[in-house]
Amino acid sequence: MITLALSKGRIFDETLPLLKAAGIEVLEDPETSRKLILPTNQPDVRVVLVRASDVPTYVEYGGADLGVTGKDVLIEHGGAGLYQPLDLHIAQCHMAVAAPTDFDYQKAVRQGSRIRVATKYTTIARGFFAEKGVHVDLIKLYGSMELAPLTGMADAIVDLVSTGKTLKANNLAEVEHIMDISARLVVNQAALKLKTAPIRRIIDAFAGAVQVPE
Ligand code: ADP
Ligand code: MG
Repeated sequence: MITLALSKGRIFDETLPLLKAAGIEVLEDPETSRKLILPTNQPDVRVVLVRASDVPTYVEYGGADLGVTGKDVLIEHGGAGLYQPLDLHIAQCHMAVAAPTDFDYQKAVRQGSRIRVATKYTTIARGFFAEKGVHVDLIKLYGSMELAPLTGMADAIVDLVSTGKTLKANNLAEVEHIMDISARLVVNQAALKLKTAPIRRIIDAFAGAVQVPE
């Protein structure tokens, strides 16, 4: 049995064409099914649905042989014990610092002020500001980062941005581009040794189907 960990939503949706290239079709729709284990047209391949941030953990501990997860999640997890053979170029976005349009972020940086930054991505944020030599107080949140500056709890946020519409709707503007983000294939290293042929087949099919945007 080969088990692939996916999260519902864009990761699941954007992985389907890659699975198809590997001859794998998921037989149930996660949006309507309540099942957490989804069968596929291949009796020895199944998909498990987990929280996006739990994908590396499932693969690390062997709950799944493979998984698809964002680079953001991988950096926050640490990636220990995971073989990362492929950038899948799906779920593309970028990590950014954003601040209210009436907060002079560049001035605060120039003056060496302490900046209060709310984020779910504390490892990425800590690394970015340390490298830049900016003093920050990080406030850990689990969602809706945009709300933190609006309530006066933070000066800025570190969050994923794709179109920028959510920022704009909340009177926030991007002030730093931290890094490009896309989803990766991650593989349990012991599983790769024990089930080399079927796992290699999936990696190779995914590699052949990846579409690198220009
Ligand atoms: P969750 O809300 O549980 O974190 P999402 O489906 O929002 O799950 O995000 C899953 C992954 O998709 C993220 O870890 C990130 O890599 C990527 N992602 C998040 N937001 C966007 C976006 N706006 N555009 C493209 N990819 C995104
Ligand atoms: Mg989300």
